Amino acid sequence: MGGDDDPLSLPGYKGVALKVLKESGVQAGDLIRISRDGTVYEGVLMPRSEYGDDRHIVIKLKSGYNIGVRVTADTLVEKVGAGVEIAFKPPPPPKQRPNLPRVSIVSTGGTIASRVDYRTGAVRPAISAGDLYSIVPELSDIAVIETEVLFNLFSEDLTPSHWARIAEKVAERIREGVDGVVLTHGTDTMAYTAAALSFALQGLPVPVVLVGAQRSEDRPSSDAALNLIGAVSAAAEAPFAEVVVAMHETVSDVSVAFHRGTKVRKCHTSRRDAFKSVNVKPIARLADGELVMLTEDYRRRDRDRELTLKPNFDPKVALVKFYPGMNPNVIDFYVEEGYRGIVLEGTGLGHVGRSCFPSIKKAIKRGLIVAMASQCIWGRVNMNVYTNGRDLLAMGVIPLEDMLAETALVKLMWALGEADSPEEAKILLKTNIAGEIAARSIYT
Ligand code: ASP
Repeated sequence: MGGDDDPLSLPGYKGVALKVLKESGVQAGDLIRISRDGTVYEGVLMPRSEYGDDRHIVIKLKSGYNIGVRVTADTLVEKVGAGVEIAFKPPPPPKQRPNLPRVSIVSTGGTIASRVDYRTGAVRPAISAGDLYSIVPELSDIAVIETEVLFNLFSEDLTPSHWARIAEKVAERIREGVDGVVLTHGTDTMAYTAAALSFALQGLPVPVVLVGAQRSEDRPSSDAALNLIGAVSAAAEAPFAEVVVAMHETVSDVSVAFHRGTKVRKCHTSRRDAFKSVNVKPIARLADGELVMLTEDYRRRDRDRELTLKPNFDPKVALVKFYPGMNPNVIDFYVEEGYRGIVLEGTGLGHVGRSCFPSIKKAIKRGLIVAMASQCIWGRVNMNVYTNGRDLLAMGVIPLEDMLAETALVKLMWALGEADSPEEAKILLKTNIAGEIAARSIYT
């Protein structure tokens, strides 16, 4: 976060403004005096957005207003008082009630673990699982909570190796005997991690619930508290033992939906009900403190079931979206780079233009697994209807039924990471492992 050359003490500053501040030995949060052209300004030095210009110093005046002072050749900056450390102090954690179920909350980062410091305007990216527990004291009425920070990353910075580490951590907690695990996670790639855990954690005895927030927990419109209460409730006592995503069911602050980890997608950039189950219904919902199952088709909680951990993902798999006029060299590139699999996000029932056929043939001949999901999102691939689909099938492209393209990508990485041969990986890809292929698709 911050510009190219700004030190941590002067977030967002660059160019001449950074030079003047550095020479004056001040840092964000300090009370400073700026003298320029005979005028004096006094206030707290604010961090800047990394997209701001390099000519202004921003201070918060005593009145509470922020102003930008343009730096000129004769601008003088002095420190008047030391800054107060930009820190969030959570209230003490609530008292635990030992007879309740045991839930482990593991934090990985994202908006749910962020705070805005209103004195300086800086977003503080780190509030731990422990802080969250203190901020939402209702959680202590639901479960005995253990908290742990695994990473503190925005989810767009996670990679398949992070999925493996998350899976290992969750398995560790389950083997220690917790009744459920909650993972706080950024929402952007939460569905990918949910799919990854659905494949990596086989024979789950208890629920694993991913939860995030579209607005950080210190904003009045935050969805963090309700989502977290829903997630912990499900981890503590839901009858299902699956990997699910728990997020607002609607825009109102009244209910939480639980989506199967292989069938969920972030469908809106900012709404609180951004997550939707695709081609299936959510598996459960929680409203007014009551958790209601919405399907009979789920794995039951069973403490005695033995968990099998399969955490290997081969990152040499690409997701390629076809579009009119696409350059087929994109496919050749992955072949040359030594990739082992390609998921094509085709049009409609599962097509790409004929101009891509030679490259796809070559990829399959070189031993890559090439599979087809649809960019339609809802519905099912059917490559028998049109000639182009049939020709692709004849080449050996594997149709992926109603699997989401993102889930298909994760699954092929996992299949190639776990299988001993490409043939075995192909069989895994086509087998329904964690509800990723529904027998019947419903339009929700
Ligand atoms: N970019 C953030 C992330 O995915 C957004 C969020 O947490 O909702 O980590």
